[in-house]
Amino acid sequence: MDFLNESMATEKKMSEGEGREFDHLFFHEAHTEGFQHTVQQVTEKLVNVMKDLDQPYSGKSPETLQRELDKLSVFTYEGESVGRLMDDIDDTLLRSNIHISHPKSVAHLHCPPLVSAMAAEMIINSFNPSLDSWDQSPAATYLEQEVIEWLTRSFGFDGTSDGVFTSGGTQSNYTALLIARDSFCKRKWEVDVQKQGLPDDFKRLRILCSEEAHFTVQKSASQLGLGEDAVVPIETDENHKLCLYDLTKKLELLEAEQLLPFALVATCGTTDFGSIDPLSELGEIASSHGMWLHVDAAFGGALILSQTHQHKLQGINQADSIAVDFHKLFYQPISCGAFLLKNKREFNHLMHHADYLNPAEDVEKGIMNLVNKSVQTTRRFDALKLFFSLRIVGTKQYGAMIDHTLALAKDVARYIDDLADMTVNHAEPELNTVVFRYEPDVPSVVDLNQVNLSIQKRLRDEGKGVIAKTVAEEHVCLKFTLLNPRTQLADVKEILADIQEIGESELEKWRVSV
Ligand SMILES: *Cc1c(COP(=O)(O)O)cnc(C)c1O
Repeated sequence: MDFLNESMATEKKMSEGEGREFDHLFFHEAHTEGFQHTVQQVTEKLVNVMKDLDQPYSGKSPETLQRELDKLSVFTYEGESVGRLMDDIDDTLLRSNIHISHPKSVAHLHCPPLVSAMAAEMIINSFNPSLDSWDQSPAATYLEQEVIEWLTRSFGFDGTSDGVFTSGGTQSNYTALLIARDSFCKRKWEVDVQKQGLPDDFKRLRILCSEEAHFTVQKSASQLGLGEDAVVPIETDENHKLCLYDLTKKLELLEAEQLLPFALVATCGTTDFGSIDPLSELGEIASSHGMWLHVDAAFGGALILSQTHQHKLQGINQADSIAVDFHKLFYQPISCGAFLLKNKREFNHLMHHADYLNPAEDVEKGIMNLVNKSVQTTRRFDALKLFFSLRIVGTKQYGAMIDHTLALAKDVARYIDDLADMTVNHAEPELNTVVFRYEPDVPSVVDLNQVNLSIQKRLRDEGKGVIAKTVAEEHVCLKFTLLNPRTQLADVKEILADIQEIGESELEKWRVSV
C-alpha cells in the first residue's frame, strides 16, 4: 500500500514538471550547449578512432565479437555520461566495424557515405519529421516531392508520374509488384484486391524476370500471396542479360497453359555482374502483352548522373515503375531509396484513409499526406540526404565518381585477365563489379572452391581486404564490388597480390595432405 501511495506521489510530482528535469535529454531552445557538447564528444571520439583505422576490418572473429559485446548491455539505474559510454564502446563497436570508406572495402553493394549526407542526417534527427502526414512534416513533405520530381524527370518520366522514398530496393520492388498485381486484377476481373482480396483465379498469375534478378522478386511474390512459384525465371545470355528468345518462348508456353503473366521485372544492374537487361526491347514486349514493366534499377539507376554511361539506361522511361537505391551508388547512409511510378493514379491501390492521419477531406483540400503513396506509415526524411548531396557535391562531381568506379572495374577486369593464375568471368563489366576466380593449374584433387572460400575469409581475418564471394556456373568465385570512388587500381593490385600469396599457402596445405 505504501508503495502505491509513494508511486502516486511521484507521478503527481512528475506531471507538474518540477524543475523541468528532463530538459537536458532533448535538443531545444533551452538546451543547445549540452547538445553541442554531446555531439562534440561523439565527433572527437569518432575522429580519433578513424585516424587509427588503417585496414578495412579488425579481423575479429564472430566468437570474439560476441564475447566482447555480451558485456556491453548493462543498463544502470542512474544512467551515465556519453563520454564514458564512448570509451566503453571504443574498442568493440567503433573499431570492430567494417571500415566501409577504406579503399580495400570492396565486397558488397554497401557504400561509403558522403559527408554531405551525414550532415543532413543530423538535421533529419534534430527535427525528426515523419513523412506520413503533412502535419508532421510540413516543409519536408514538399522537399521530398521536389526531389521525386527531379528523379522522375531524370529517368525520362513525364508530368503524370510520381514517386516516394522507400527503405530500399526490397520495399520498392514489393510496392511495384503489389500495384502491378492490383492494377491487373482490376482490369482483368474488376476485382478490388485491396477490399476483396485475391480473385478466384489468382493461381494463374505469373511474374517474369531473369534468373539473375534480385531474390526480392520471389520474396515479394510470396508476401503478395502469389507464392514464389508464381515467378517464372527467364534464362540469361552469356552477358548475364535476360534472353529475349527465351522470354518469347516462355510467354508462348504460359499462354498455351492459360496462365496470366501480369508483370515483367527487368534488372538494371544485377548484383553479381552488374548486367543491364535490354530495356527498350522489354518495354515493347511488356506493352504488347499487357504486362506491367518494373525496372529494378536499385544498383544501375545511378547512371542518370554518369557523364559517359548514361546511354545504358536507354529505354528505362518505358517502365511502368522503377526502383532506385541511393544507399548504393549514390553514396547515401542507409537507408535511402525511391519507388517511381509512371502513372500516379496507380498509387490509389495503396490508399487507405485513417481519420486521425489522412482523412479523405485532406485530398479535397489539397493537403498532401505522403502516406497515401507508401506501404510504410511513419517514415524518415531520407530525401534530405540526397538533396544535400546533390546540392553540395554537384552533379558533375557526382557523375565523375560513378564514372571513376566503372573505369576502375574495367581496368581491374583486364588486369586479372592477364594474370596466369586467375580467371575473370566477364572481361567488360557493365557497371563496377568484377567476378573472378583464383584458378592456377593444379591437380584435379585440389578443391579450388575450398581454396577460394579460404582466400576470401583469410583476407578479411588478416585485415587485408574485405571482398565478396559468389557462385557462378557452379564454381565458387571471388567478387569485387568497386563502389568506393576512393579505390584506385593500386589498391586492387595489392589485394590481388595478397590473394596470390594466400592462394599459394592454401595450395601448400593440399600438397602436404595429398
Ligand atoms: C540491393 C538490391 C535490392 C535490394 O535493395 P535493398 O536496398 O537492400 O532493400 C534489390 N534489387 C537489386 C538489383 C539490388 O541491387
